[in-house]
Amino acid sequence: MLFCSAQQIGNEIGERFGPLGIYLKFGDRTNKQDCLVEGSVHIQFWGTRGSIATPGSLTARYGGNTSCVEVRSARGTLVVLDCGTGARPLGRKLMSGGAKGLRGNLLISHTHWDHIQGIPFFAPLFARGTEWDVYGPKGLGASLREALAGQMRYDYFPVTLDECSARIRFHDLVEGSFDVGDIKVSTRYLNHPVLTLAYRLEADGAVVVYACDHEPHAPMLAVEGRDLSEQDRRHAEFVEGADLLIHDAQYTAAEYPSKIGWGHSPAEYVVSLSRYARVKRVALTHHDPLRDDDAIDRMIATLRQHSSPPEVFAACEGQVVQLGASQDQGSAIRAGEHERDAELPVGPDPGERSVLFNVADPRTAAVLDEALCAEGICAKSFSSLHTMRALMAQERPWLAILEHDPPRVDGMDMCQSIRSLAEDDDRRLPILMVVEQEDQCAGDAAGVTDWLIKPFTVAHARSKIGAWLLRTACQSISNDTSAAAKQPVPAVAETLQAKLVMVGGTTTVLRATSDEANNHLPERSSQLDKSVLLWMYGREIAPFETAAFGSMAGDIIARAKMAQRRGMKRAIAARR
Ligand SMILES: [Zn+2]
Ligand SMILES: [Zn+2]
Repeated sequence: MLFCSAQQIGNEIGERFGPLGIYLKFGDRTNKQDCLVEGSVHIQFWGTRGSIATPGSLTARYGGNTSCVEVRSARGTLVVLDCGTGARPLGRKLMSGGAKGLRGNLLISHTHWDHIQGIPFFAPLFARGTEWDVYGPKGLGASLREALAGQMRYDYFPVTLDECSARIRFHDLVEGSFDVGDIKVSTRYLNHPVLTLAYRLEADGAVVVYACDHEPHAPMLAVEGRDLSEQDRRHAEFVEGADLLIHDAQYTAAEYPSKIGWGHSPAEYVVSLSRYARVKRVALTHHDPLRDDDAIDRMIATLRQHSSPPEVFAACEGQVVQLGASQDQGSAIRAGEHERDAELPVGPDPGERSVLFNVADPRTAAVLDEALCAEGICAKSFSSLHTMRALMAQERPWLAILEHDPPRVDGMDMCQSIRSLAEDDDRRLPILMVVEQEDQCAGDAAGVTDWLIKPFTVAHARSKIGAWLLRTACQSISNDTSAAAKQPVPAVAETLQAKLVMVGGTTTVLRATSDEANNHLPERSSQLDKSVLLWMYGREIAPFETAAFGSMAGDIIARAKMAQRRGMKRAIAARR
């Protein structure tokens, strides 16, 4: 039998071999050397709890630490999926072999606390000589580094992110793909009240997908078992053929109706999705803090009673899974949109692009207004098809948000009108339809891209709007193509001009501006330094507040002042 019961997991430290090259080891949470199977991907769960760490005797078997999963390819490439409180014991294990030469990749799904709170206690980030690449979703405003630095500000933690001794590079991601060592990584937005990415890892002939946190795009799918909506189909495509899917399953189907909009999945939906997507085995994770070990046992027992494959288990802190090469074509590396570089620079600022907006219900409009305002997005309202046509021509909007609530407002008709105008456009305008309940057939016929189901929160609207704006931005860049868009960053930085502005006599602010500002820095060495600074800032290697950045900026100002004084002396001497 492939999976032992959770009770057995708790009572014994066992090792099991299953079919298709899977190897499971349960219960070992110590720093012992892991038993690696040659040619296989090693996966270990270090945190499986959702929302908040939940220690105690009732959660001792499945674990109380929040999200953290270690993945290691056969060649040793290390990926850490999320950095919840489970990252602390993982960090200790990694450091047990010494810091020298330690190199890894943190893939953060999103910046909710339960996915990042382990960062301040992840020892390898504080060890000189280690090197980390930190990946996470790009926001419309703050960068990933800024969001992570926020939880380590003076008010919240005694050590700042900039005081980490490791060499850290931050990478802001959109949907696409990239490589870390011999692991190919693809990303996909999830449905959650903040921009959240799922990660699909392909290495050594095996596929692991991590989708946490996520709620079905169409809630009725989970409540009534309806057909997959377009966005749910895309989610299924992303996880298709995975040898192991690690998926949010915070709720049961019975609990879900009272939790709609909270951004998490019922376990029954995850099993159905996995069956549809020919996933081979599913690790349910992000266990609800209220679900103790016995309740998880009962949930899994019920799921196994009613389900044919895939194999389902509840992820357990300390559990090890080894995946051998899949013999199934379903695990082949996927082509198409995931081939786009997930680090493709996105710009210009989405805040400069307009959103078409027609929502009649005052309460819903107020929520959307607040969401758009919070993201600094300019919304253009219209009340007639004539105005809509004019705005389409003038603004070339990046997104349309329409409401369908007949007979008050016929969003489907508006949607069809937009589609009839946009046929010659080089990119397809995403249309987000606000409804009480999605109607997939009517939506497909009218050209609806995605649904916003009422009622929804400001946070939910922000993440949905953000995801579509960033997708449009990526599509625009792809369409432009873009030798320019793909220029190496240092080259781009060299084309920028800089101006140093003293604020309050103590803070140095660097702003991109036009050529005329160059007169402030007359010496060639300053120009060179300036480019380096811009490059460092652009890559977020050195934020403004770091000592290194401040000291370099200080040197430039000092040299500029000396040059200015020399110039003045020469001018005075010449007058004499
Ligand atoms: Zn979470
Ligand atoms: Zn979350």
